[in-house]
Amino acid sequence: MIRLRKWLRKKWKQLVGTVAYSLAQYEQNQSLRNEVHLFRLFLVTVLMVGLACGVVDEAYASSATWIYTDEPVAQQKGAERTTKQLAIVIDDFGNRMSGTDEMLSLPVKLTVAVMPFLQTTAKDAEQAHRLGHEVIVHMPMEPKHGRASWMGPGGILTSLSDQEIEQRVNKAIDAVPHAVGMNNHMGSKATGDKRVMRIVLKVCKERGLYYLDSKTNYHSIVAEVGKEVGVPVIQNHVFLDDEVSTAHISKQCKLIEQHLRDHAVCVTIGHVGTPGKKTAQVLGKFVPELMKQVNIVPISKLIERQQLQVQ
Ligand SMILES: [Zn+2]
Repeated sequence: MIRLRKWLRKKWKQLVGTVAYSLAQYEQNQSLRNEVHLFRLFLVTVLMVGLACGVVDEAYASSATWIYTDEPVAQQKGAERTTKQLAIVIDDFGNRMSGTDEMLSLPVKLTVAVMPFLQTTAKDAEQAHRLGHEVIVHMPMEPKHGRASWMGPGGILTSLSDQEIEQRVNKAIDAVPHAVGMNNHMGSKATGDKRVMRIVLKVCKERGLYYLDSKTNYHSIVAEVGKEVGVPVIQNHVFLDDEVSTAHISKQCKLIEQHLRDHAVCVTIGHVGTPGKKTAQVLGKFVPELMKQVNIVPISKLIERQQLQVQ
């Protein structure tokens, strides 16, 4: 009887493994993602109801809960060997820029930065969310060089009053559905201004958003003010496509690997728009390679890790 029970348990684990593997495979197909997600929910609900009614043994139910995982299968295999984490952030969504669909259909969880008040702001944010990506507000902020009009609508200028900045940041958050964080579009001037950043980060705190400092200004004071205000701040390490050529973007991907050899986490930022299609193409090749070595996660996971280390 005990041997039979052991055998059944072994078979059960194999079955759960096969189901989880197949679901992860199906999930690679963008058009099936929602169905897979619903099916996972259905399976877990059945198991939990079974457990509550006493039909399913606790050991069976707990072994099956990992059916409900949102990590692609290649990542699960890599994840067993490493705790290193990489977040891939893609900026400048919100205007149906070139490469939008190519980026959103990459089989990996991206952090998608959507600009407020543009033609497809809500549409891009909704689509990204539906496909399982993390959404953040890509807040236009004043640069040191270039015209303020390049920022896009609703941008933060250092000449604005405290009240106006607060209002603009709140409106921008309202305009981007599902946003859980914020980063800056341009902003080499504004992110160096303590008064401005104190207000921006205060609103982030009130609205429960984290802040990703794109590091367009090497004298950025965002980390310092973030600490003061009590908002989790994380910084960018590698710009993927500051030069628009396949050779450069590929070189930057190698730089990510190098960075992760010496560090536990890495944040990289790419763009839709002029480099969009090229960057998506290089990532399409490079991401499966990276998944074997590190866990690719949204920024919120890096924030969780940071907060655990602080405690
Ligand atoms: Zn931008």
